[in-house]
Amino acid sequence: YATEAERDLVIIGGGVAGYVAAIKAGQEGMKVTCIEKRGALGGTCLNVGCIPSKSLLNNSHLYHQIMHDSKHRGIEVGDVKLNLKQMMKAKDQSVSGLTKGVEFLFKKNGVEYLKGTGSFQDEHTVKVQLNDGGETSVTGKNILIATGSDVTPFPGLEIDEKKVISSTGAIALEEVPKKMAVIGGGIIGLEMASVWSRLGSEVTVVEFLDVIGGPGMDTEIAKSIQKILKKQGINFKTGTKVVSGDKTGEGVKLNVDSAKGGKPETLDADVVLVAIGRRPYTANLGLENIGLEVDERGRVIIDSEYRTKIPHIRCVGDVTFGPMLAHKAEEEGVAVVEYIKKGYGHVNYGCIPAVMYTFPEVAWVGQSEQDLKKAGVKYRVGTFPFSANSRAKTNLDTDGLVKMLADPETDRLLGIHIVGPNAGEMIAEGTLALEYGASSEDIARTCHAHPTLAEAFKEAAMATYSKPIHF
Ligand code: FAD
Ligand code: NAD
Repeated sequence: YATEAERDLVIIGGGVAGYVAAIKAGQEGMKVTCIEKRGALGGTCLNVGCIPSKSLLNNSHLYHQIMHDSKHRGIEVGDVKLNLKQMMKAKDQSVSGLTKGVEFLFKKNGVEYLKGTGSFQDEHTVKVQLNDGGETSVTGKNILIATGSDVTPFPGLEIDEKKVISSTGAIALEEVPKKMAVIGGGIIGLEMASVWSRLGSEVTVVEFLDVIGGPGMDTEIAKSIQKILKKQGINFKTGTKVVSGDKTGEGVKLNVDSAKGGKPETLDADVVLVAIGRRPYTANLGLENIGLEVDERGRVIIDSEYRTKIPHIRCVGDVTFGPMLAHKAEEEGVAVVEYIKKGYGHVNYGCIPAVMYTFPEVAWVGQSEQDLKKAGVKYRVGTFPFSANSRAKTNLDTDGLVKMLADPETDRLLGIHIVGPNAGEMIAEGTLALEYGASSEDIARTCHAHPTLAEAFKEAAMATYSKPIHF
């Protein structure tokens, strides 16, 4: 388009939320421009988040399995070596393949892509500082803020991505640290602790709360995965807060304290990973130029149709309310374009799955037992352990369980929680069930192929409304 022509939609941020909205708008025949400053599309998720971390999780798992979990399977290997450089290269290849794929989809759907930093000049105009130098501006009938999030820093411990790292440093270390300390036992902390512990680091996770897993994870499941990860060699200090830290010549010293007050301790590590959460990112966006405010946690304030108080400026993804998850951002990217184009859209916030890609994986959808207790909602519980599932037994991967929570009167499912092999794929069935308002009996009466891990899912449903057969 000519730069002076008004677009139907201008999107600031080419992460999952922004790029999905751009493609959807292109498909709807809208004139759309997406501004991204990173130099590559896909945002945190494709460049430094979901994708590179899953590549490392997959390949470090294979390495660890070959090293420590093959002999009893009848596979004897000798001379296994870690080539970290090659592992990182494989990760980089999966990232670049996917980010280029999004660029191709932009072309296919007629999306204009501006590489640069966007900021509001006025309510309809976005100024763009181009990455290649120079400046331009674009105007839009509608503008979408999709600028995502960045790392919450730990006060007094400056992130240098070498000794004190964020997740971005944790997916790019050049050697395996002897000792690694992780501040925060949420999803990032546990995924990255798994990667580096499997590759040979002595890892200690320090978590403020009494349970690991971060917000949303069912406490029974969190306790179960903590036991399993401990068996794998990860050390945990729960109920412990990091008070301060100092970089020393060799590494970092962390001063930790019992969260309830107790004897202070120091922890030495070569590398410290800061994983205490992420915060909405609106730096240099010029929100002040248009009078838009953020809430106390930095989130852009919107209504149920993603409108800010300036109705043609909307906002989706990590930079606003809700869980900071790529698939949530993606759903919103589609829905916001539907609201603009048709006046209606749809995201079911009660039905957004979460997956932690450790081994075994943890996955859930809907409400946890502690959520239901807190809300005073009555529920019935059914569980089934993978140790009683034939496929898990043949695979020699029997850690974990499936847990279902259902309304005791109507049997409608309220939450599904899994720790176990392939939980991340299995939760899709649970999500569909919840979305359709299924009862546990609906699942229990659905034929599941034998021998599959999914039979544990069916048997947990049987345990919820009646009794399982195999346990
Ligand atoms: P982002 O992906 O952060 O994208 C925002 C984009 O906007 C960025 O590329 C940024 O450069 C750009 N931008 C910002 N300001 C401007 C500006 N002024 N002008 C131009 N461009 C701008 N989620 C999952 O669901 N599954 C996972 O397995 C998973 N793993 C993760 C692992 C890690 C290590 C991390 C850090 C996150 C992970 N997440 C995962 C979370 C996921 O990455 C985010 O929820 C998702 O990326 C949010 O998408 P978004 O588009 O809202 O924001
Ligand atoms: P988080 O909020 O999940 O966990 C942070 C943890 O740090 C919490 O358990 C908190 O109690 C603890 N903590 C905070 N301050 C502390 C202190 N001083 N000392 C000790 N512990 C402290 O945050 P995260 O793990 O950084 O992840 C950020 C976001 O990225 C999350 O929203 C997550 O959903 C998303 N993410 C998702 C995936 C996935 O879906 N697989 C993977 C990575 C990241």
